[in-house]
Order: sequence, then structure tokens, then C-alpha cells
Amino acid sequence: MTRRLFWEDAYLKECDAKVVGVEGNAVFLDATCFNPRGGGLASDTGTMAGQRVLEATKRGDGIAHVLQETPRFAAGDGVRLVLDWERRHRTMRMHTAAHILSNVVNGETGALITGNSVAPEGCRVDFSLEDFDKARMESYVAMANEVIARDLPVRSYFLRREEALASPGMVKLAEASPPDVPELRIVEIGDFDRQADGGVHVARTSEIGRVSLVRTENKGRANRRLYFTV
Ligand SMILES: [Zn+2]
Repeated sequence: MTRRLFWEDAYLKECDAKVVGVEGNAVFLDATCFNPRGGGLASDTGTMAGQRVLEATKRGDGIAHVLQETPRFAAGDGVRLVLDWERRHRTMRMHTAAHILSNVVNGETGALITGNSVAPEGCRVDFSLEDFDKARMESYVAMANEVIARDLPVRSYFLRREEALASPGMVKLAEASPPDVPELRIVEIGDFDRQADGGVHVARTSEIGRVSLVRTENKGRANRRLYFTV
């Protein structure tokens, strides 16, 4: 089990940790500020004791930090972790924006999210929609920007699984129902949205800036893909 320091403080840019295991180029730690890839969210990058961390991925209940080169340390060693903070902060802005935009589209159309990808370079969200013209999409983006401009606080907490799943709309991602764990982490954006989620978000929506639509795409009869940026 790797303690997820980014759940306690998403603004932690550096931290100290202890190596608990090394497998090839993958390093396991007792704690980390690196948010791993998962649920469509891009991994953090950065350094571990000066060595380049290419990505972090979930491995069982732990987090594997994949280094570019063979790790120069072993179990029991202390290491300093440093995030590529600009990349991480942009990922946080994109991620909170993706939740807001998804909730707008879900509220306006009833569409579920069938896939998503949130990365600093760009984001996409797939909706189970048959009809989806550009002008309507632009109006949803404008509505998302109105929500962002309200400068809502974003907070996270844990709820018992049954309690979370009993709440309508808590799990919007159609295919990615959370793994079988007793408690789910909930991310709440003011009074606007609550969603089971393991990722990193900004503290207030004003940090996002403005969302803009990049393009839309038809991905089959009832699947519409939307690309956006912040
Ligand atoms: Zn999310």
C-alpha cells in the first residue's frame, strides 16, 4: 500500500519517501506525491532522488514509479520526489474542467460518459449521444464556463460504498464503475457536482481559467467525442 499524499494535498510539489521495493525500473514507495495514470487521467512525471520518473501506474494497492534508467537505490533508502509541477497543475485544471463539462452535458442530455482522456496536452470526453451538433456543444462549453466563473470550492472526502452508489449521478462514467472497495473517494465541486473519483483537482474552479472546444467527432452511431482545452 502506497500512501497517496496527493489525496491529502494536491498542491504537494515535493515529498520524502522510503523505498519499499524495486522491480526492474519500477520503484515502490511507502508514500508518494505522484498521481498514477488511471481512469483516463495522465500520470505525473518528475524526479526521484534526481533520476527521471517517466510515469506512475497502479500496481495492486501500490503505485509503481517507472524510472527512465535503472534505479540507483534499494529497499530501505530514503528518496526525495519532485513533480513536474506545471504539467501536474495543468492536468488538475483539465481534470476539474472535464468533470464540470461532463456534468453539464449529462444534465442537459442525460448522456453517460463512455470514455475520457485527461492530459496536459489535451482532453477528450466520449458521450453516449446520437445527436450532437457543434452549436449545441458550444453552448454546453459556455455553461461550463459560467460554472467555473462562480469560483466554486472543490473538496474530496470518503463515503461508504453503498452510501455513495445510492446517490444518483455519483458514478457517471458508464464503464468504469469503481473497484470493489469499502469506501469511495468523492470529489465535490461546490453544489454543482459530486462524483466518485481518485484523481487530482484544483482547489477552486477559478484556477481552471476558461474551457474552449477544440473539435467534436462521431465515433459510431451513439458515441460522440468532444475535445477541449483550458
Ligand atoms: Zn475524474
